[in-house]
Amino acid sequence: MSLHGSYDPDNIFAKILRGEAPAIVVHDDAEALAFLDIFPQSRGHTLVIPKGVNARNFLELPAERVGSYMTRVQRVAQAVTRALSPDGVIVTQFNGAPAGQTVFHLHFHIIPRWEGVALKGHGQAPKADMDDLQATAAAIRAAF
Ligand code: AMP
Repeated sequence: MSLHGSYDPDNIFAKILRGEAPAIVVHDDAEALAFLDIFPQSRGHTLVIPKGVNARNFLELPAERVGSYMTRVQRVAQAVTRALSPDGVIVTQFNGAPAGQTVFHLHFHIIPRWEGVALKGHGQAPKADMDDLQATAAAIRAAF
């Protein structure tokens, strides 16, 4: 998928937003949904997606939604950091397949980092244990 194209309403994150696919949710409000990445690059790897917009990537997010969405991204990053006490945190996103994007509904990644713990590659991490993810999500939810 290139940078440009039409929004696919059957992408996995659209299905999660419609309740047609499961997600381990850590935060949900009118603007955005945040849930754990099931192929986490590190413990607590969280995705934040905007609601109510067919934006495939950051370039397509209507300007009037940027502020409210980025406020959620920051809030979730703060809660993840409070909950898990990492030594650092990556906040990033990819636009278009050549840039590394694999799901074409806008999302920011929040990826905690710890000194001495190697980061798993983007798109190369194994599926996580669901009980571990649920425990991590509970800790993050409690940090809001
Ligand atoms: P990107 O490659 O930047 O588009 O990121 C998409 C992310 O979504 C990857 O990190 C995947 O591991 C993650 N992912 C794919 N399917 C799911 C899913 N069903 N639930 C949670 N995360 C997912």
